[in-house]
Amino acid sequence: MTLLRDIYCLYLQYRSTRRRTYKHLFLLPVLFVIFSCAGNKKTGIDYQAVIMSERPKNIILLIGDGMGLSQVTAHMYWQGVGKTVFEKFPVVGFHKSYSCDDLVTDSAAGATAFSCGKKTTNGAIGVLPPNDEPCTTILEDLDRKGYATGMVVACTATHATPAAFIAHRELRAFTEEIAMDYLKTDLDCFIGGGEALFNERPDRLNLEDSLRQRGYVLRRGTTFRKLPLDGSAPFIQFTHDREPPTASGGRDYMPGATELACNFLQKRSKEGFFLMVEGSQIDWAGHANDRNWLRAEMVDFDKTVTRALEFAASNGETLVIVTGDHECGGLALVKNSSRKQFNPSFSTHLHTATMIPVYAYGPKQELFNGVYENTSLYDKMREALGMSVTQ
Ligand code: MG
Ligand code: ZN
Repeated sequence: MTLLRDIYCLYLQYRSTRRRTYKHLFLLPVLFVIFSCAGNKKTGIDYQAVIMSERPKNIILLIGDGMGLSQVTAHMYWQGVGKTVFEKFPVVGFHKSYSCDDLVTDSAAGATAFSCGKKTTNGAIGVLPPNDEPCTTILEDLDRKGYATGMVVACTATHATPAAFIAHRELRAFTEEIAMDYLKTDLDCFIGGGEALFNERPDRLNLEDSLRQRGYVLRRGTTFRKLPLDGSAPFIQFTHDREPPTASGGRDYMPGATELACNFLQKRSKEGFFLMVEGSQIDWAGHANDRNWLRAEMVDFDKTVTRALEFAASNGETLVIVTGDHECGGLALVKNSSRKQFNPSFSTHLHTATMIPVYAYGPKQELFNGVYENTSLYDKMREALGMSVTQ
């Protein structure tokens, strides 16, 4: 009865609005043509049309250090609405970024939450309270299971975010010790800065020799020709002695390095691969309250994420997850006098506690919907791969 009544009500509504609406109906085909043309023009790849495997074989985790929702939003208004890679993702969630001992996390605890699935104290790299017990990271776990693993970063190898995936130290400041931890895991490729921590050490150890003894091909610079791209040997490419320059200061290797790492890792193992990519300097621009630096870093990270998405769309078996570890700078988008533009306004030189967006594309993308702890990213990655989730 209810259904019949509803249908009758709809019919009455239709009758009452028919006279007012019918004369606009002829516009529908016109609008359809306009919108479908606009849709085709916007993207080269129809990401939603890609046929996906049931589970991901590969995971690419891209971390914009210090990238909160306001950084993504500022980037969108700077680039133009509809023109950023973030708007292409079918699934968006939010994570709660606080650490074990602080509402405002640092990058060490933030990255350890992703890598180990546990909240730790600020400054800790891959170790947990109360006794700084090392935790196995998802990268180490997958390496042992036969996956190829890699990292591509816009900072040094020993900086907090990459360190938290491969090292276990009480404090992020122990960079010489963190460098030594690169000898403990069979990372298949690393591209980023920080060669000096390996070959100009106070203890006079030459870790590059040790890496070569472990079978690594060592490279230097930001061109990628002549690499062992057949996957026959693992490689480390130090782009710079210390921290790489800013994106506006000439650093442009991140998108190419990410694409290369995907292709290399794919050849390196039949099991699949795990690649962590970090847009490291979004955070540094926030600390410096430097809008131009931030703008350039976001453009570079957008291009980098785009390469990862294109790789994923080309095979349908790669899960791409993009997030930040925390917000930095307390960025607000304050309206300026022109009404259609904004003045980015920083409220602090430190990190803040705001929730952080998570973007997902690929098999099991739906797991990343919702609001959850930063540690859940670890669980969700494991669940996506069909691994046990014990919390
Ligand atoms: Mg970082
Ligand atoms: Zn920071």
